[in-house]
This record gives sequence, C-alpha cells and structure tokens, in this order.
Amino acid sequence: MRILFLDIDGVLNDEEHYKQFEEWPDPNTETEKHLSEELCANLQKVLDRTGCKVVLSSDWRKHFDLEEMHKMLLDKGVDVPFIGQTLVLTNEMQAWRGNYVQRHLEIRRWLNDHKEEFNVTQFAIVDDDPAANIPNHYVQTFEGNKFEPVGGLREEHIEKLVEILTSTE
Ligand SMILES: [Mg+2]
Repeated sequence: MRILFLDIDGVLNDEEHYKQFEEWPDPNTETEKHLSEELCANLQKVLDRTGCKVVLSSDWRKHFDLEEMHKMLLDKGVDVPFIGQTLVLTNEMQAWRGNYVQRHLEIRRWLNDHKEEFNVTQFAIVDDDPAANIPNHYVQTFEGNKFEPVGGLREEHIEKLVEILTSTE
C-alpha cells in the first residue's frame, strides 16, 4: 500500500488563498475557509494518479477526528481515503517549554507501528515544515520565504509526490 502523510496548513492553504478575506477566518467557526478548493483539487490529482491512502500528520488532527476531516475536505471537492493519523508525541510539559517532538519522528513512529499491518510499500510526506523531512520521501510545499504569495500544493509537488509514490525500489 502507498501512503501519503498529509499536512494541511501550507499545503491546502497558502497566502494567495487568504487574500480573499478581509479578516482572518475564525478557525473554530469558519474552519472551511482555511481550505483552498484549488489546492484540494491538486491533492485529488495525487490520489487519482497513485491510489495512495492517507495518514493525517497535520496539527488539525488535534482538533478534528478523521470523519470530520473527511467531510470538510469532501465539501472542498477532494475525497481523501484516510486510514489513520500520527500520534501526538509532544506531552504538555514539553509543549509548555516549546520543545515539540519533530514531526518526522511522529511519522517514523506511525511507520514503525503500522508498516506491516498496511503492507506499506512506498510512502511520501507533503508538508511545508522541514521538521517533517525524511530524506527521499519528503516534498516541501513552501520553499524559503513563507510570505511568498504563492505556496501550497502545486504542480511541481504533484509530480514529485507521484514519482515517490510510484517508485519501484
Ligand atoms: Mg503546515
């Protein structure tokens, strides 16, 4: 099985997307405004071309369960085949100190726990944060300046993700 570890902020939204709003959408009551239909359509292309399943690695997993995530994304036009989410490995004391466990460690933990169960043959990570980097598997959606107007999951990232997910090692 091919697995995509999915981040949300900086992947399915970007600075360009937020230009349409005068005020920052409330993350609790206007959650859907944080998802770009254009970028969701790009995610659908990756899903269609690879048949991969998806593990949520975004911080959104702390606020929504997979059913809620699936519905919100479906409303934006992408049918995400979620099979799980990574564990949150930062405890409260670490968070209080600002010592967050690097996201790639949460991803490695999921692979360690589930690789056999899901017969993982290839995996890719899409994230704007280099803390998610596992070399040869990572595709970064923002490169360099986070305040560049264009970010998010774009054509070049689709190609890189498809290449990783369909590779025969
Ligand atoms: Mg992000």
